[in-house]
Amino acid sequence: MVGRKANAWAARDSTGHLSQYSFHLRDTSSEDMVLRVLYCGIDHTDLHQIRGELISNTKYPMIPVHEVVGEVIELGSDVKKFSLGDIVGVGGIVGSCGECSLCKSNLEQYCSQRILPYNDIYKDGTPTQGGFSSNMVVHQRFAVKIPEKLAPEQAAPLLCAGVTAYSPLKQWMGSNKNVQGGIMGLGGVGHLGVKIAKAMGHHVTVISSSNKKRKEAMEDLNADVFLVSTDEDEMRKAANSLDYILDTVPVFHPLQSYLSLLKTQGKFILVGAPQQPLEIQAGVMIAGNKTVTGSFIGSMKDVQELLDFWAGKGMTTMIEVVKMSYVNKAFERMEKNDVRYRFVLDVAGSNLE
Ligand code: NAP
Ligand code: ZN
Repeated sequence: MVGRKANAWAARDSTGHLSQYSFHLRDTSSEDMVLRVLYCGIDHTDLHQIRGELISNTKYPMIPVHEVVGEVIELGSDVKKFSLGDIVGVGGIVGSCGECSLCKSNLEQYCSQRILPYNDIYKDGTPTQGGFSSNMVVHQRFAVKIPEKLAPEQAAPLLCAGVTAYSPLKQWMGSNKNVQGGIMGLGGVGHLGVKIAKAMGHHVTVISSSNKKRKEAMEDLNADVFLVSTDEDEMRKAANSLDYILDTVPVFHPLQSYLSLLKTQGKFILVGAPQQPLEIQAGVMIAGNKTVTGSFIGSMKDVQELLDFWAGKGMTTMIEVVKMSYVNKAFERMEKNDVRYRFVLDVAGSNLE
């Protein structure tokens, strides 16, 4: 079907300032669904993207965000997984080849032909556009069902931030509960990382850039240890104590002092995406047989698994819900590390239509 008109908020250039914008959704095929967007989380990646910091060929106008919860209002004739009125989620990718070994083994996020929800080109040659829009089109393979027990605004941050923590912890730690974990950076990804690691049974150390979040980390998030990365004495005492560190920090930071926190054979998992190269000294890696690895979101299977795990345990995300008119302020506050811990935009409640 021919794409319908939608009202959105878009960045026009690398200032990243968002303003109102109208466009036409892509034409739909038999496996596509049209969503009425309800809520969207804002990820730090969105800030990198609207400013043109992440990929060289940034395309404007850009309608950002990729933690999207919406209601299905139109269905292609071959959509079998969902029904009209279902509440569904869209996360970090909206397409992949579907044929390669990665796609066939639930690793489609690493497919060389993966398609990002915005600032990318869809299979039909049109620019992809994200969730800050009255409506969005998604192929059924790249949507997940939001469990009924989970409020849609609560679910939004799980679709990217949550699975970004869940997927590598599952990959590297599996069902081993007797694990000492470290979560670096207590933001959107970090606070969900703490909650997920705790729910997996790990002993969790938060590694933060200041003392400001100590009380909330220990009391609200139930962390076991809180380390301030600039406190050399605290850091030295914690040397060789962790089986893994999940690094969510979005700005440059040399890795040396953090790698020393790992036990022999510890895993350092990079998910934060600073632009500049990070520094590693070979000695600490060699002497400790340590691994530095990276991880990108999670598969659609991981996302559904996390949503069900989360709903099953009655867990909650810590969010600040705001209207679209607040969006530029929200990005500004996120940059200043002034959000506990995720902004979620009430898109449907912001009268875009
Ligand atoms: P966020 O909410 O802004 O949190 C980042 C945290 O990093 C802050 O809360 C802060 O925690 C810490 N931090 C340390 N120095 C900072 C500084 N100078 N400025 C800002 N924060 C600083 O970000 P997020 O949405 O969690 O995303 C974190 C990173 O992960 C971003 O680079 C994002 O692009 C990336 N990401 C990657 C994936 C993936 O698939 N790999 C998915 C989602 C996001 P403390 O106060 O505790 O120090
Ligand atoms: Zn593929």
